[in-house]
Amino acid sequence: MSQVDHYAVLGIDPSASAEEVKKAFRRLTLEYHPDRHAGDATAEERYRQINAAYETLSDPAARARYDAQRRFGGLDLSRGGFDGQSARDLLGNVFGDVFGTRRNQRRKGRDLRYTLTVDLPQAVLGGSFGIEFEAPGVCTGCNGSGTKPGGRAAESCPNCGGRGEVKGEGMFARRTRCGRCDGTGMIQLDACGDCRGSGARKQRRAFDVKLPPGTAAGAERVLTGLGEPGRFGGEPGDLRITVNVRPHPRLRRDGDDIRCELAISLTEAALGTKVLVPTVDGEVELEVPAGIRSGTKLRLRNKGVPLAEAARRKPARGDQLVEVVVETPQLAATPAGERVRAALVALQTACDEAGALPRRASERSRPG
Ligand SMILES: [Zn+2]
Ligand SMILES: [Zn+2]
Repeated sequence: MSQVDHYAVLGIDPSASAEEVKKAFRRLTLEYHPDRHAGDATAEERYRQINAAYETLSDPAARARYDAQRRFGGLDLSRGGFDGQSARDLLGNVFGDVFGTRRNQRRKGRDLRYTLTVDLPQAVLGGSFGIEFEAPGVCTGCNGSGTKPGGRAAESCPNCGGRGEVKGEGMFARRTRCGRCDGTGMIQLDACGDCRGSGARKQRRAFDVKLPPGTAAGAERVLTGLGEPGRFGGEPGDLRITVNVRPHPRLRRDGDDIRCELAISLTEAALGTKVLVPTVDGEVELEVPAGIRSGTKLRLRNKGVPLAEAARRKPARGDQLVEVVVETPQLAATPAGERVRAALVALQTACDEAGALPRRASERSRPG
């Protein structure tokens, strides 16, 4: 990273006390004061850096933020995994240093949008998802300032007086975008070669997006400050992520519960069986009791959607409801199909003899 380190500028250790920061600042401002180096661009730049370093390191809150950023490895926002608010703090802090008082020229960066598609179990259980895409990010050649390292800082545009727009000729002339500064109100005197002064460059950007348990389709996550960089010290835009949930072949969400159907055979319904059913946690064994009726819902407790923190009760998850569907045999005109037919006829006869279908028997005995 080419960003100038505040501690290096002041020639002190990162563990320096507030008193040591102040002492170093006093000594260096005397040494590099513009009065003593009139017309020396290098000394001017150094003086500016010293002031910027002191402004940050003398303020305990700003220093803490800067230290966090420094540990994080400079202004490299191409790696996510931290919360957006701190990114905005970092950017605000750094740009504040670089641009000092020219806050009026700031341009907020545009928001970035991304659709994150996850499987149903991933959305239900939550987790961390890596996303990667190409988008304008902070130019590493100039750390987003648009000014080449060691170059003169950007200046207010002389054509529009920093307003970014100019008034045409005539009484009813409309204001139009200033062509000289492209509407930014600022002119780069020594534009960074990598980004042609914009401070942003298209790059591979990667983030970790954390989805809380119970994330629903269409949910939006906003990573504050991780959108396109601002111009001239403006705040970066946000990264807005919309969650798309891929439909599951068997499971569907219904509020805090998960629902699915389970097809069993006529004989399994009568005899009972053990089957594997999918859940968001993977397959689990489900015991289907003997004599179950079609349409019965079997409940897998605690296999549903984790409940939001506020709504937590015991258990802390919804259930999975498994609806039993008895599948009627389809008879094929084949020798094998004929064997099924014969077996079913025998089954019906046996059932009648045993009184195994009492409801059917009572309904049929009523006079029609
Ligand atoms: Zn640049
Ligand atoms: Zn202009």
